[in-house]
Amino acid sequence: MTVIRSLMPYRAGTALGAVPHVVESGAAYTADGGYRSTDSPERLLDHVADAGLRGRGGAGFPVAVKLRTVRDSGGSPVVVANGEEGEPGSVKDRWLLRARPHLVLDGLDRAAAITGATRGYVYVSDPYAAARVRQALTECPPRTPTEVIETAHTYVAGEETAAVRRINGGPALPTAKPPRPYERGVGDQPTLVSNVETLARIALIAARPERRHEIAGSTLLTLSSPDGGALLSEAPYGTTLGALAAVQGTAKPSGALMGGLFGGLIGPDALGLTLDGAALATAGTALGCGAIRFLGPGSCPVATAADAVGHLQAESARQCGVCVSGTAAIADTLRRLTDGTAAPDTEERLRRWSSGLPGRGACGLLDAAAGAAGSLLRAFPDLVRAHLGAVCAACAAAPPTGGHRLVVPVPPVMDHLGQRAHSFPEPDPERVSPSSPR
Ligand code: SF4
Repeated sequence: MTVIRSLMPYRAGTALGAVPHVVESGAAYTADGGYRSTDSPERLLDHVADAGLRGRGGAGFPVAVKLRTVRDSGGSPVVVANGEEGEPGSVKDRWLLRARPHLVLDGLDRAAAITGATRGYVYVSDPYAAARVRQALTECPPRTPTEVIETAHTYVAGEETAAVRRINGGPALPTAKPPRPYERGVGDQPTLVSNVETLARIALIAARPERRHEIAGSTLLTLSSPDGGALLSEAPYGTTLGALAAVQGTAKPSGALMGGLFGGLIGPDALGLTLDGAALATAGTALGCGAIRFLGPGSCPVATAADAVGHLQAESARQCGVCVSGTAAIADTLRRLTDGTAAPDTEERLRRWSSGLPGRGACGLLDAAAGAAGSLLRAFPDLVRAHLGAVCAACAAAPPTGGHRLVVPVPPVMDHLGQRAHSFPEPDPERVSPSSPR
């Protein structure tokens, strides 16, 4: 089970909130200052810019720049709260929508006011999250007409062009860029596609502008390990990865898989790095969506890389030939490393793919697969060579599963009566809505 533990020195004004295991009600949220503000949308935008808030979906783009771009694009802007969490090791977006739907909807409404948007959408595949958001919309109807759009869950469904394509009635598949959604998105209008945590932080800043730097300076994290439990946490930027591993319960990590599957692998020498986008980028990795999987003494980085790329191969949207062949080749090569059948030129091939494939697909999935291979070679070169001749004990005991073991469950959330909040009709999590093409 995934537990929740805040590393923030206070509870008010945090994304986890005061009672993260209980669904917030509209009454409680408004009583705490939600949906109200003394500042105009322009003033709130200034606060967001001054705080240096960056997006939490993975790319970390400055939020104020995105808001201004959509506002100044002309047309009739649209805002999309993107809650489609494709990374198997991340739970924070689904938890936010299940536990704090009002915080997200408040942020969406404020982003709409800043950009001049007249329509809003909450885009999600998690049926529990969709139900919670619909209930919240009934409790506190927003100023901006807002609709929930459900999609089938895939790794790429949350990519911003896939979200736009789905909301426009098509399949949830990425499209070539340009145009980017802020240029031409939903209904061909300039569209802000914003991660739900990003919108939550806009709402937190609106309620407590005096705390804007602390609000922008902390982030939700999903921490897990093969040998221990999983943790949904909130921590200030600047916290070291080693400290996070200790909190999660991995005493001496041998490395980590960073950013969901997007930041690649890092070795034990990198655990002194802090949560700092620039420092992580310099070290060749990324925080991405805030999902970090620490490797314990019994876990093999080669098997972890094989799991990651195996998952990416299975999730390829199969639109780009180079993605289909590239992810399959990398996945097969990594799997062969784990079962002792790797060819002598394995290192050379992995190196060639890791440098030649990024940027050649319509979305970042192929980049993630190439990055996993390249980071494995950089962080664990001796281990890769050792796998050319023999199967290691960890790989023999726990061969790659295609990524199933990378999945982290969403922490349970209770309603006000202490019941599991998923008491509305239990949908089939595996279902694909007839109106939800991929
Ligand atoms: S890169 Fe892969 S996952 Fe992305 S759009 Fe192309 S085929 Fe689909």
